[in-house]
Amino acid sequence: MPSMLAAVLHDFDDLRLEQVPIPRAEEVGDVVVRIKACGFCATDYKAIKGIRRNVKFPTIVGHEPSGVVAEVGPGVEHFHVGDEVIVQPLGHCGFCRHCRVGNTHYCEHAFCTGGDGPENVWPGAFAEYMRTKEICLYHKPPAISFDAAAITEPLAGAWKGVIHHSQMQIGDDVVIIGVGSIGLLCMMVAKAAGAARLIAIDTSDYALRNAVALGATHAINPAKEEAKKRVYEIIPSGPDLIVEAAGPIEAVRLMVDLRRRGTRWNVFGITTHEAFSLDGGLTHFLEGRMDASFGTTPLAMSKAIRLMETGLVDTEKIISHRFPLSQMHEAVAVMGSAERNKVIVQP
Ligand SMILES: [Zn+2]
Ligand SMILES: [Zn+2]
Repeated sequence: MPSMLAAVLHDFDDLRLEQVPIPRAEEVGDVVVRIKACGFCATDYKAIKGIRRNVKFPTIVGHEPSGVVAEVGPGVEHFHVGDEVIVQPLGHCGFCRHCRVGNTHYCEHAFCTGGDGPENVWPGAFAEYMRTKEICLYHKPPAISFDAAAITEPLAGAWKGVIHHSQMQIGDDVVIIGVGSIGLLCMMVAKAAGAARLIAIDTSDYALRNAVALGATHAINPAKEEAKKRVYEIIPSGPDLIVEAAGPIEAVRLMVDLRRRGTRWNVFGITTHEAFSLDGGLTHFLEGRMDASFGTTPLAMSKAIRLMETGLVDTEKIISHRFPLSQMHEAVAVMGSAERNKVIVQP
């Protein structure tokens, strides 16, 4: 049986580079993709390190891949061997009540390649080959590199949060709390959509430097200055939209504190189960609107591909490190370091 190199996670903190059988496209709709690049998401790092515990072993993580179709199974009509593709990690049925109204990320029959979310997790893309379904594939335009294309899924998530759910409009004053790679993508989407003042907030000066280089008009480090005071000095009338893309509960609390009347605010980054409180009457009279957003949809994937293809968002700009799959352990170490942005693994 032909074999391939894969980074197999046998237990928390037990990631092994080993030879495993190449998956086959045997069932209806199956496609096997030769992986060219895969983004290293914090979710993957959390699985490797045991920070998130919903992992069944052994598994292969990595859910932000691009590659080339290597084999197609029965019934596959729209993709052929040799096609360059981008893979959406979430597979959806297309027929349940959620899929029928476009919320494919709520699908009752979902599976996920290498990621977090549904119960049904398939081996992911920190491997030379990966099996998925035709419905998860998107044609990669030639203008987009495989590395840039590996950032389609997070960019799609950023578009879905900022534009689709929070309805950012041209001229909005926008605050992004947390400008790691996903926050930077939110920021780049907001910039492309015509943000007026675009304020980046982060406790890392490294992240803030990246944000300013990519278009933030102002940078605030809440560890060094009073964030709310600074935001209201810059925008005396307060933000139109705040996106929390950080994760820690303190970031959500800061977002709640930054609201003025009519502010839209998006609980985007936090995934842990921690509480924050809202003053009922104040929330009533602020007439603010809370949004949240997770995952991606075919609509968001299509928009992200168009943003990259036309140069409105250049995802290459957030890549700080590239590693071949054989250096997977170095990639993991960099993920745990402070001075990194998007890490790409090339199987
Ligand atoms: Zn991810
Ligand atoms: Zn469905």
